[in-house]
Amino acid sequence: MYNPLSKKAEEFIHHEEIMDTLAYAEKNKSNAALIDEILNKARERKGLTHREAAVLLDCDIEEKNQEMYALAEQIKKDFYGNRIVIFAPLYLSNYCINGCTYCPYHRKNKTIARKKLSQKDIEREVIALQDMGHKRLAIESGEDPKNNPIEYILESIDTIYGIKHKNGAIRRVNVNIAATTVENYRKLRDAGIGTYILFQETYHKESYLQLHPTGPKHDYDYHTEAMDRAMAGGIDDVGLGVLFGLDKYRYEFTGLLMHAEHLEAVFGVGPHTISVPRLCPADDIDVADFKNSLDDDIFAKVVACIRIAVPYTGMIVSTRESQKSRERVLHLGISQISGGSRTSVGGYCEPEPAYENSAQFDISDTRTLDEVIRWLMEMDYIPSFCTACYREGRTGDRFMSLCKSGKILNCCHPNALMTLQEYLSDYASEETKRLGEALIAKEVEHIPSAKIKEIAKRNLQAIAEGNQRDFRF
Ligand code: SF4
Ligand code: SF4
Repeated sequence: MYNPLSKKAEEFIHHEEIMDTLAYAEKNKSNAALIDEILNKARERKGLTHREAAVLLDCDIEEKNQEMYALAEQIKKDFYGNRIVIFAPLYLSNYCINGCTYCPYHRKNKTIARKKLSQKDIEREVIALQDMGHKRLAIESGEDPKNNPIEYILESIDTIYGIKHKNGAIRRVNVNIAATTVENYRKLRDAGIGTYILFQETYHKESYLQLHPTGPKHDYDYHTEAMDRAMAGGIDDVGLGVLFGLDKYRYEFTGLLMHAEHLEAVFGVGPHTISVPRLCPADDIDVADFKNSLDDDIFAKVVACIRIAVPYTGMIVSTRESQKSRERVLHLGISQISGGSRTSVGGYCEPEPAYENSAQFDISDTRTLDEVIRWLMEMDYIPSFCTACYREGRTGDRFMSLCKSGKILNCCHPNALMTLQEYLSDYASEETKRLGEALIAKEVEHIPSAKIKEIAKRNLQAIAEGNQRDFRF
């Protein structure tokens, strides 16, 4: 039976409930009165149930769809303003014992170059990332208890936090590693990680079992219940995601929201972030083998509907998406993007020769971080390198209650400007710096509290004139 409070995967991601929801959405896709009712509820900015959101996703009334997009954009502005948080992935190792059929790191792939960074290599990679201007990383690793045991991950996190090169520092390390035990999650918590990220890949159990034919990841229940174990291990911020294109997007969308509802019901706090990767080409992977790819219009609608359904959850899009696609979904709800990314192991220090591909996927947006920052500012977004909440202990329910109270706007905005000023002073090209300083001068006036505005101005000046860094509210 469907039960969001249950700890069993098959009860909180309940197949019949998803199928009923999809049938209900299909039946009501032209029901203007119901869609109006749902949109009115969404305007209260308290979120929607998976059933309500599924109706919006299916809605085939053009005028209502336009209302939906406008609302998603407005909710995005209300909660996130025009700030976009920047991060980069760091691939530690592509050794993996799993058999995921859509990932080039799968065990049987003999053509990919297998690599694992030593602590010295990590130091070099992190210095390269700091020299680009990054402050927030997501570390990635395949599942391999022999090559990538938890001790290796913990040591790597320690190394990353320990590197202080010039004015650089990595201030938040998010971790994307395979589902593990409560004990290991506790170790990750103690190592000071930010968000624990684990993509479900697909919520459809039958497809999941076929797509993961071998290795520990084959265990659907263990994988699906991982976030419960992470939270039991004391990790407050968890990041969900599916790989769109593996199964039908309507099924994945509903499962994703049910997973968010489950976390909220059991732990009183929903996911910190939701990622929306789409399947893309890679070594040994041909996307044509997968029949469920979604086009750009549907992708944009999925983003808008998630934004409306879970207004307080950050949304992430990576460089899997092209510049054009990223531009479109930024308006509709995305609050975090990666920039200047390399998806190969060791790729920040030295670009790989073509014969030695170790990348997890082909990047669509290949611009440098400086180009991405400039592009965002040209569209009037404020690129933010802020990591303040995590470092001030504002995680989990403390973060969510602050976010829901709306007070976070007095933190996020000045923090974004101060971290952007750090970037401009230390790493930006002349043109980016010129644009950025004009943007900061304009945006600083929008800080609501007069007292915070005055402090922010003082800090901005100190950053620009000297080597003082890491101010935060
Ligand atoms: Fe390994 Fe993850 Fe790739 Fe699966 S998706 S093969 S677990 S790295
Ligand atoms: Fe994120 Fe907190 Fe910084 Fe706002 S103040 S951008 S919520 S880390």
